[in-house]
Amino acid sequence: MPDWLVIGGGITGAALAYELVHQGFSVALIDSETPELTATDCSYGGLAHWAGTTPLMRQLCQDGLTQYRHLTDELTAETGFRETQLLLTIPIGAEPAAIAAQYERFAIAPHLLSPQQAQELEPILNPDAIAAALRLPHAHMHPTQTCQAYLQAFKRQGGRIVRDHVQQWLQKRGRIVGVQTPTQHYQSDRVVLCAGGWSRGLLTQLGLSPSIYFTHAEILEGIAPPGTVQGMIMPAQLQRLALEQAATQPEQQAYWQEPGQQLAPSILDLGLVQFADGTVRLGQISRTLSDLDAPIDAPASAHRLRQAAAELFPALDTTNYRWRHCLVAFPTQPFLPVGAIPTQPSLHLFSGFGNALLLTPPLARHFAAWAAQGHDPVMAALQTDLKIP
Ligand SMILES: Cc1cc2nc3c(=O)[nH]c(=O)nc-3n(C[C@H](O)[C@H](O)[C@H](O)COP(=O)(O)OP(=O)(O)OC[C@H]3O[C@@H](n4cnc5c(N)ncnc54)[C@H](O)[C@@H]3O)c2cc1C
Repeated sequence: MPDWLVIGGGITGAALAYELVHQGFSVALIDSETPELTATDCSYGGLAHWAGTTPLMRQLCQDGLTQYRHLTDELTAETGFRETQLLLTIPIGAEPAAIAAQYERFAIAPHLLSPQQAQELEPILNPDAIAAALRLPHAHMHPTQTCQAYLQAFKRQGGRIVRDHVQQWLQKRGRIVGVQTPTQHYQSDRVVLCAGGWSRGLLTQLGLSPSIYFTHAEILEGIAPPGTVQGMIMPAQLQRLALEQAATQPEQQAYWQEPGQQLAPSILDLGLVQFADGTVRLGQISRTLSDLDAPIDAPASAHRLRQAAAELFPALDTTNYRWRHCLVAFPTQPFLPVGAIPTQPSLHLFSGFGNALLLTPPLARHFAAWAAQGHDPVMAALQTDLKIP
């Protein structure tokens, strides 16, 4: 029986499994292998190290950046890490100075750029389609490569990876003692849920009302000549945040339990990134649908993404780009799904937090230290600041 069962092998499960085994625990990681739907494999790979708003979060962002600078060496595998820039587009009709002021609460303040200055930095941008842009220092990694690097390092240190699908919890006298898959029982006194968009369903099985939800995210993916996109391009005002808020209002809660519900109208935040191998990801449509396997009209979504891209990135030829879809977990603020669940002390959460790619390495390290030593100052501060219900 392993000391820890980790459910989910996306970036959160992979990094946490690695850190737990590094602390001397025996660890089994169970993953369904659903790469097409896994958020990590659809992600842009952005590391927003400028985004801390509290002293604790600023420190974690800085720690995340420092860890990434050494991660390729530590894991002895490529992570695709590079330090780059982020351009945040401000649409025509918006007030650039007012939007720039909203970024003053972050650790690093952005530079306000004219459309022409923005185009000099990112020639793919149409300056006539924006009122202005904000520029921030940013970092970037390849999420699938980094996840695989963690999984390989985990295995090298004696960790065990099981390809299986967790269907149910094993319980003894009301306490979680493991999980059940179609063919096996896996027992452990300590289980940690890193199942991204699927976490909510597994928690609901226990009769919990988790403050963790999911969106269906859609992107287009294709290949462009290297250097088509210099850094990352995102909207300065993310509609996704308003969508998440609208979909989790108290009056919406009952609809999450009903099949076939759309909690709020879908949104499109037009973002663009390119990886070292030339792969471009253009996204993203976000939908709050109550079903994990809700049907989505892929051709209509692809058309919507192409139309938006034609205006902001007119030189980008998306003809051969393919539509992709995944599930992304998100919490209601200020809930941070990291740590033990008070009503189920053997069950833990480590998935569904914001700025996930940057924060996963430092949070995984603190979680594992807390598991080994029984205390960790950052875990204690997080639990106090952002209580797990
Ligand atoms: C288009 C897009 C762009 C993004 N860009 C960024 C960005 O720039 N920066 C950033 O920080 N974040 C970004 N994100 C979000 C980020 O990708 C996710 O927060 C992160 O990858 C989540 O990782 P995870 O391990 O928690 O979940 P996932 O990567 O979804 O992994 C969950 C894993 O759990 C497994 N699983 C699920 N259910 C079960 C089960 N019952 N039994 C066994 N295994 C199971 C799945 O197979 C999967 O492997 C982006 C997301 C999208 C969609």
